[in-house]
Amino acid sequence: QENAKIIDGKATAAAIRAELKAEVEAHVQSSGGPPPGLAVVLVGDRRDSATYVRMKKKACDEIGVSSFGFDFPEDVTQDTLLACVGELNSRPDVHGILVQLPLPKHIDEQSVLQAITPSKDVDGLHPANVAALCTGRTRAPGQAASWQLKDLDFHVPCTPQGCIELLDRYGVEISGKRAVVLGRSNIVGIPVSMLLMHRDATVTMTHSKTVDIASVVREADIVVCAAGRAEMVKADWIKPGAAVIDVGINSVDDATTKKGYRLVGDVDFKAAKEVAAKITPVPGGVGPMTIAMLLRNTVNGATRAAAAAAVA
Ligand code: NDP
Repeated sequence: QENAKIIDGKATAAAIRAELKAEVEAHVQSSGGPPPGLAVVLVGDRRDSATYVRMKKKACDEIGVSSFGFDFPEDVTQDTLLACVGELNSRPDVHGILVQLPLPKHIDEQSVLQAITPSKDVDGLHPANVAALCTGRTRAPGQAASWQLKDLDFHVPCTPQGCIELLDRYGVEISGKRAVVLGRSNIVGIPVSMLLMHRDATVTMTHSKTVDIASVVREADIVVCAAGRAEMVKADWIKPGAAVIDVGINSVDDATTKKGYRLVGDVDFKAAKEVAAKITPVPGGVGPMTIAMLLRNTVNGATRAAAAAAVA
């Protein structure tokens, strides 16, 4: 894959799922315990959330991870949700707990996320996991910044982890490079910036108040786009030879398609691919990696729990 120009997230995610499937088999054999398990909590009937949850459960099934669904109506109380999370925290066959966001307005999202035991927080959004990422627990004392994401001892958010994994698997050097991130959300922009910084890139974070963003992006050897603005990054913003990771998923009207719309990224892909050295398409880039990294976090949770039980 190292020489390929188009970064194929779909193929890479499939390769990672195959690696994980083998890891799950080995884990079940050696531990003699239950397979890794992921609990998915879904509130309400948002169609997009239901689709994501279905995709996640299917991905679990395919690699031998158990998935447990907990569906609640839109008007569920916060106490009921907290009780559910509390029960899942203590279940030995559940290694990952995922609360599908967004939650309805009457629920305090942060309280629910904070109720999840950090070691089961496979979305990496619990303050303890955020702190581990920000304070650089990605690097053991004295260790070079060549750490592998799969070896970390805490949970890193899935989409940012997927971005780094794509750079690694396509041979993009990160150390010493200039990286520019578009977007500063808790789920993508901030954690991906942290990962790049801990891998020794020089990172610039940009957002909706950045003045002359094009000239900032032009400096980047690595661009990660997570602004959620359809095709805002133009080809002439890209430094020739740069690597471009497009996280954005935006739907734009298109009368020529059956559904009347199509999905595009934050980058004008067709033109930008003539300038970039490596670039992810949308769809088929970062998207499939997110679920692969969720599986990895769940499998890691199970192997860490087994290792801890062996010591105790
Ligand atoms: P948010 O809406 O939470 O954050 C968007 C960020 O982009 C904000 O920080 C915002 O700045 C910034 N921004 C908005 N407009 C501009 C602009 N014109 N120029 C520069 N920065 C801008 O989105 P998310 O981080 O949740 O998601 C980003 C995109 O990634 C979306 O398209 C989403 O669908 C997609 N996504 C894809 C995933 C995948 O699996 N592939 C997973 C998660 C998200 P400010 O802070 O100033 O408002």
